[in-house]
Amino acid sequence: MMAGEACHNGPLYLRVMTTQRGSCLCGEVAYEVEGALEHTHHCHCTYCRKSHGTPFATGSLAPARRWLRGEQHVARYESSPGFFRFFCTRCGSALPGDPVAGFTFIPLGTLDTDPGVRPAFHMFVASKAPWWEIRDALPAFNGFPPGIDAAPVADRPLRDAPGATRGSCLCGAVAFRIEGKPILARSCHCGRCRKARGTAFATNMLVPIDALRFTRGEGELASYKVPEAKFYTQVFCRTCGAKLPRIDPGRGFAIVPLGSLDDDPGVRPSEHIWVGSKAPWDEIHDDLPRHEAAPPA
Ligand SMILES: [Zn+2]
Ligand SMILES: [Zn+2]
Ligand SMILES: [Zn+2]
Repeated sequence: MMAGEACHNGPLYLRVMTTQRGSCLCGEVAYEVEGALEHTHHCHCTYCRKSHGTPFATGSLAPARRWLRGEQHVARYESSPGFFRFFCTRCGSALPGDPVAGFTFIPLGTLDTDPGVRPAFHMFVASKAPWWEIRDALPAFNGFPPGIDAAPVADRPLRDAPGATRGSCLCGAVAFRIEGKPILARSCHCGRCRKARGTAFATNMLVPIDALRFTRGEGELASYKVPEAKFYTQVFCRTCGAKLPRIDPGRGFAIVPLGSLDDDPGVRPSEHIWVGSKAPWDEIHDDLPRHEAAPPA
């Protein structure tokens, strides 16, 4: 529950009154936000990281959303009691859910235009990925910020024994290990990654193909290739929509969404690519190399 009076003061509660539309990567599903976007935030909880496959999810809260098309392609997964995460069954994009306590989570990366709002705080930083550093000056809260009167959710429990770097989806149906040295990790700001993940960017690790071993549920993987793309494919769990590793035999490596990992892989993001396509509402705060488009070969 939100404390009503908290919604009208302080920088955390900027409201923007315009109609916003969004859509998934494959374009089958489109929606319209009903009412104002507010409480724009970065969430570092383990559920958001798995669901989006990223260091954190960026979203706004709105009173509701209305499907414009493709509702038959929308699936939902109950990631914690009473809280459902929605995704496109065709492409795996994260989509807005149903309202909980009067608020609907809108994944900002799926919006088609600049919503005008800007992230105002970080939450669940106590669950932050060890491979990600927060470098901006926004307020950061270990759980929900003051004004959101909801019980905190415990970190997602791990099912698999320690050993080589573990990875898994949100529902646990799919699990894998990384055995071997990663090639590199980087953040991609291209329009496809933003739609696919529903976030500002995707942070992925490249590993040699033989370093990736699925230990459970490989048959649960769904994939969607962008028809006009040479390579671009999103792989996700068909039950929970979590983003998962993809083997690219043509290029000789596997692409692992860092958010899907359960352990620290040791590698750190070393560059930003496609910053020329960056979300207007996102700012880069580190001093890593930035490439306007694809990285040099
Ligand atoms: Zn889709
Ligand atoms: Zn979260
Ligand atoms: Zn799953």
